Amino acid sequence: MLIAVFPGSFDPLTNGHLDIIERASVLFDKVIVAVGVNTTKTPLFTDEEKIALIEEAVGNLDNVEVSIVSGLTVDFMKEKKARYIVRGLRNSTDFEYERDIAAMNYRLDGVETVLLLARPENQNISSTVLKEVARFGGQVNKLVPANIAKALEERFRQ
Ligand code: ADP
Repeated sequence: MLIAVFPGSFDPLTNGHLDIIERASVLFDKVIVAVGVNTTKTPLFTDEEKIALIEEAVGNLDNVEVSIVSGLTVDFMKEKKARYIVRGLRNSTDFEYERDIAAMNYRLDGVETVLLLARPENQNISSTVLKEVARFGGQVNKLVPANIAKALEERFRQ
């Protein structure tokens, strides 16, 4: 059984992330979306909120599950018997970063990384930028799944 983990901050999930999840779910028998505890960014949504929002957005995909990962991704993968990491690439900056992480994960545990190119329509979507747009009342409903757009609107209305 081919099991892949798609790790990320998902703060929040965007159409770009969702597209990677959908495409990975065709390539692998099972895809685990792993919501990471990010030590460098202050998140807008809690881990529990992210999990609930992602589960709702991927509800139609039978072979996708969502989980929290607090330690090293490779340790989480051992526990889940996953041998592949999936990540998305939008541009050369993503590539430089992913190349180093992939090399480290291979060295640590022989884990293989599969990089999927962002679709052209998603190339400029970033969680960070769309949060700024939503914060000041801009429309983000073409960039994120409907439930995420609603959650963003509610969060910034408070
Ligand atoms: P991280 O903080 O781990 O980079 P992100 O949630 O920002 O977490 O991204 C998770 C993964 O999704 C990364 O591989 C990133 O390159 C990819 N990604 C982010 N936005 C997009 C997008 N618009 N299209 C395709 N992949 C994306």
